[in-house]
Amino acid sequence: MTVQEIKNAVCVSIDKNRDKIIAVGESIFRDPELGYKEFKTAEKVKNVFEELGLEYKDKIARTGIVASMKGREHKLTVSVMGELDAVVAPQHPFADKITGAAHSCGHFAQIAAMLGVAYGLKESGVMEHLSGDISFMAVPAEEGVELEWRNEMMQKGEISYLGGKQEFVKLGIFDDIDVLLMQHTATDDKMTTAGPNAMGFVAKIIQYIGKESHAASPHKGINALDAARIGLTACDALRTTFKDEDGIRFHPIITKGGNLVNVVPAFVQLETYVRGRSNEAIKEASSKIDRALKAGADALGAECKIYNIPGYMTPFESDLLKEIAEENMVSLVGKDGVEKSMYQCTTDANDISNLIPTLHASIGGATGTAHSKEYEITNPELAYINAAKMLAMTVVDLLADGAGKGIEVKNSFNAPHTKKSYLEYLESLKNQ
Ligand SMILES: [Zn+2]
Ligand SMILES: [Zn+2]
Repeated sequence: MTVQEIKNAVCVSIDKNRDKIIAVGESIFRDPELGYKEFKTAEKVKNVFEELGLEYKDKIARTGIVASMKGREHKLTVSVMGELDAVVAPQHPFADKITGAAHSCGHFAQIAAMLGVAYGLKESGVMEHLSGDISFMAVPAEEGVELEWRNEMMQKGEISYLGGKQEFVKLGIFDDIDVLLMQHTATDDKMTTAGPNAMGFVAKIIQYIGKESHAASPHKGINALDAARIGLTACDALRTTFKDEDGIRFHPIITKGGNLVNVVPAFVQLETYVRGRSNEAIKEASSKIDRALKAGADALGAECKIYNIPGYMTPFESDLLKEIAEENMVSLVGKDGVEKSMYQCTTDANDISNLIPTLHASIGGATGTAHSKEYEITNPELAYINAAKMLAMTVVDLLADGAGKGIEVKNSFNAPHTKKSYLEYLESLKNQ
């Protein structure tokens, strides 16, 4: 079979399974779960892998699942990935009544498209023409949220990192993966290979510990809120020292600010990200901010505890992989349907892009602002079906003809990090 014939066969199979692909996506949409707790979502993914007779491992990083599909020979392994988790948007019509979780980031459509690739490659029987294996991954916890709960889980040793993909790296799940393909649903009607903009971050939980006393006798206490205020003012004084090109953003919130107005607050908690355009700049700004935050505690004689939680890295792209995917986009929706622009967010897929060639495409089909109560899929053909076809066609390009193109993508990629240096970088952020 020619490459085009293989692609056609896969797309016919995806079309045949159209209703099933959309149904599993809609079912996940209506039953959202937050990161590292996607137990029901994981069951839905496993049901499809079982229907297709794929071998899989589950409970990876709590809820993750990896299924494999073998080619006729093993020259490469390509991972096709989807994310299991929702975000919090309690006003969303399908928000979980208890947790407030809602699928207003489109991960349900992304998981469905990943499963669509599995339907297409399996049922068309084309794997016997491909010179590599596929690893289908459903990964927990892309959204870097619930910092307090995840920090507790980290302190207990249940997880090590904020993001599920970071956890997968640590667990060795990417050790034998050569190329990663994924896409994220967008709120427009275009396809693009341009992923998230070049912002990474470190997350912080900051605790000021003072001493309670009657507010009428403040000299007997240590005011943790005053310590926090001075710490934040010191951080503001740092803002002029950040270089424009580093794009440092520091945006704290106070999650605990005292209990009763007639008690000197003894415990105040803040959360923040420190964002930036390079990993070095993030690290430098993060350590300056820690210094300034601690100064507030010193001023009042309070204690300041900072938990630094490594966030996500800045992306590193494979131009060749993007070119291959973009040709497939044009063949599906025409040149006018393909855009070059990037969008404003960050993801733990950036971390993987520092290790192996990674496609993090963006495919429209949703409306409503991301992370808001209005978010829904209004163009299922684009968000589910064309997304699956684009990924499946790119798999075929990489693994057909003796996997020549896939090997070229792999060999032309100069990874900024090895697994070892990457994990060391994350640890260095934790231990500042
Ligand atoms: Zn999101
Ligand atoms: Zn997302």
